[in-house]
Amino acid sequence: MKLDSTLAILERLVAFDTVSSRSNIELIEWVANRLDDHGIKALIQPGDEPGKANLFATIGPADRPGVMLSGHSDVVPVAGQDWSTDPFRLTERDGRWLGRGSADMKGFIACCVDAIPRLVSARLSSPVHLALSFNEESNMHGMRLLARHLAQAPVRPSACIIGEPTRMQVVVANKGTAIFRCRVRGFSVHSSLRDQGVSAVETAAEIIVFLSALQRELNQAERHDGFEFPHTSVHAGVINGGTAHNITARDCEFMFEIRTLPGVAAGDIVARIRDHCARVLVPAMRQVSPECDIVIDEILDAPGLDERGNRYLAQALAPLCPHEGFGRVSFGTEAGMLQEAGVPTVVCGPGEIRVAHQPDEYVEGSQLVQCLSFLDTLTARLARGPLLPA
Ligand SMILES: [Zn+2]
Repeated sequence: MKLDSTLAILERLVAFDTVSSRSNIELIEWVANRLDDHGIKALIQPGDEPGKANLFATIGPADRPGVMLSGHSDVVPVAGQDWSTDPFRLTERDGRWLGRGSADMKGFIACCVDAIPRLVSARLSSPVHLALSFNEESNMHGMRLLARHLAQAPVRPSACIIGEPTRMQVVVANKGTAIFRCRVRGFSVHSSLRDQGVSAVETAAEIIVFLSALQRELNQAERHDGFEFPHTSVHAGVINGGTAHNITARDCEFMFEIRTLPGVAAGDIVARIRDHCARVLVPAMRQVSPECDIVIDEILDAPGLDERGNRYLAQALAPLCPHEGFGRVSFGTEAGMLQEAGVPTVVCGPGEIRVAHQPDEYVEGSQLVQCLSFLDTLTARLARGPLLPA
């Protein structure tokens, strides 16, 4: 299979700097124009912040549900990473194509865009929907908006394939991801008078120790051996606080995440953290100063993908893929949001997750070939009729 046209598209997609903090509009309009070239009108759904949009388009009959191919248009930053090439210029090295987003997940989008003319000429009896979202790598607001739109649409996709890198294996479950920011307000005094102050840094440390204890408890609780780490996890990844070694810190802020097994609610876990702060830590701080406080804000709470909701879809796709059994992954995806909107969803795409977000991220040419051949088989299947019985 020739990759020239796919690589030309991927080169273009990588060149759009769609790091989540920047606009994705140019990429969305470029794909909309490609669709328009083949007579397909895309819906461009404005985001909830300037410079952001989703895209949704239907190829084939629009009056019946079809299979949605979904990708996020944004990528993670390259700042501070040691790249051996220009990350926004697709570069070949030994059969690997290097570039930011090549695996996560512009390689999949390039394959889908390349397939547009073949999808159009196949005269599908069951449609394909193409969906591109924004901010997957930050707050997932793009898919939240699109899933809301689809849940209310007169015709909702009957299935969705999200092309996150899985080496083209069908992934049926992923953990949920919830992110929180904890802000601790202490009381500043000279540290020689430390009993008259409250160190926000020390209080933050106490909360983090509580998180570690929660993790030990979760390790004893429910396990799901399909996941590499078979438990719900709690992790503090960033902390900032204090101004000097001899001042009790007035402020300290840290971020933590909760990766939930399907069926576990992050809200229940964070409720325990809030309760511990409210009952134990805040009253002790306020004995020193009424200004002291602990505030935990939710940045994101994306549900996991539960394999009880996609069994028929997974079975229908298995014969179309280089199938080695169904996968379960610990990284978060938009799949759970679509499942909540009533669209059975699996994850399946070219490339490997271990190179995603890394310097010199790449996708192998052979993975793109596998993805194109999967899309061709799917196209032939949908030309005959729906993938799933109604
Ligand atoms: Zn991704």
